Amino acid sequence: MKKHNFSAGPAILPAPVIKEAARAVANYNGIGLSLLELSHRGTEFTAVIEEANALMKEIIGLPEGYHVLWLTGGASTQFYQVPFNLLNEDETAAYLDTGTWANKAIKEAKVFGKIDVVASSKEQNYTFIPKKYKVPADARYFHITSNNTIFGTQLHKFPKSPVPLVCDMSSDFLSRPFNPEPFGLIYAGAQKNLGPAGTTVVIVREDMLGHVKRHLPSMTDYRTFIKENSLYNTPPVFPIYVSMLTLRWIKKSGGLKAMHRRAKARATVLYNEVDRNPLFRGTTAIEDRSTMNACFVMEEKYAALEGQFMNLCKENGIIGLKGHRSVGGFRASMYNAMPKSSVEVLTGLMADFAQKHG
Ligand SMILES: *Cc1c(COP(=O)(O)O)cnc(C)c1O
Repeated sequence: MKKHNFSAGPAILPAPVIKEAARAVANYNGIGLSLLELSHRGTEFTAVIEEANALMKEIIGLPEGYHVLWLTGGASTQFYQVPFNLLNEDETAAYLDTGTWANKAIKEAKVFGKIDVVASSKEQNYTFIPKKYKVPADARYFHITSNNTIFGTQLHKFPKSPVPLVCDMSSDFLSRPFNPEPFGLIYAGAQKNLGPAGTTVVIVREDMLGHVKRHLPSMTDYRTFIKENSLYNTPPVFPIYVSMLTLRWIKKSGGLKAMHRRAKARATVLYNEVDRNPLFRGTTAIEDRSTMNACFVMEEKYAALEGQFMNLCKENGIIGLKGHRSVGGFRASMYNAMPKSSVEVLTGLMADFAQKHG
């Protein structure tokens, strides 16, 4: 039986994508070779990466001047690669501290320039998104994290900023429509909402680059990958291929509007049960809670039942529900590929469990 996969990442992928990827690994398009055996410079793979780029531009609606890059090193590499490429040592970049990942991005950026943390919810264990702050008009960029995977909060509206936004979109990438124009750079590790681990998408606007004075080794310079269409060296061919299949699936399913509708429907089912059920409660401010990663805990007086509920979930094919160690409790990650029916299996169990123990 296929499991209900609530893992935070690597995470669920659309079933038809997995099926087609498996076929391609065995024999790519019937050519008598596995996708894994193809030269990255051959016609087959260059067609894959071109299609992936075209689909990404079409699905988001990227204007002229934006480049789509397929890099390696995970979103964590972007924590340093972004300031390394964009920020001189005597310049300031603004950062919003909304969680563990944002905090790591800040730590790396401090090596390369002056970092102004305009607001932080760290003192309240990142249970909400700060909204009152001022971004200095002379900052090079304003770095935000659109969805806080560990704490279950999300920026439902992107902030107005006098300077270009730089955004870590790893855990809600392509889950909703957005206007790309305020963004100078977007990055996302594939393994949350797009494909297998191993590639990181970077979308960068050309005018952001060529400004820093430091020497940039080729492999760290975005311009190298723009110039070579992400084929400067051997790219992660399999993760790029599977990401391309997911992009096809998103387009066929109705694009970002459809992804958003589905995300809201799933989140509504889950949060309605969390709010209604006397055994459970959410851990974040209601207005900021994420459609992608829902965090909740058992009410204190029922805390002893946590293990029992986990076992019940396991018996019913639910996996990946354990909350991150810094929050505890439960985290239901509900990325693009998750069917609402899986969420309903979980909320059904929550309701049954409350009937029995409440
Ligand atoms: C998972 C995650 C990361 C880290 O991604 P890696 O690809 O493992 O480096 C960074 N930011 C966010 C928001 C994430 O969810």
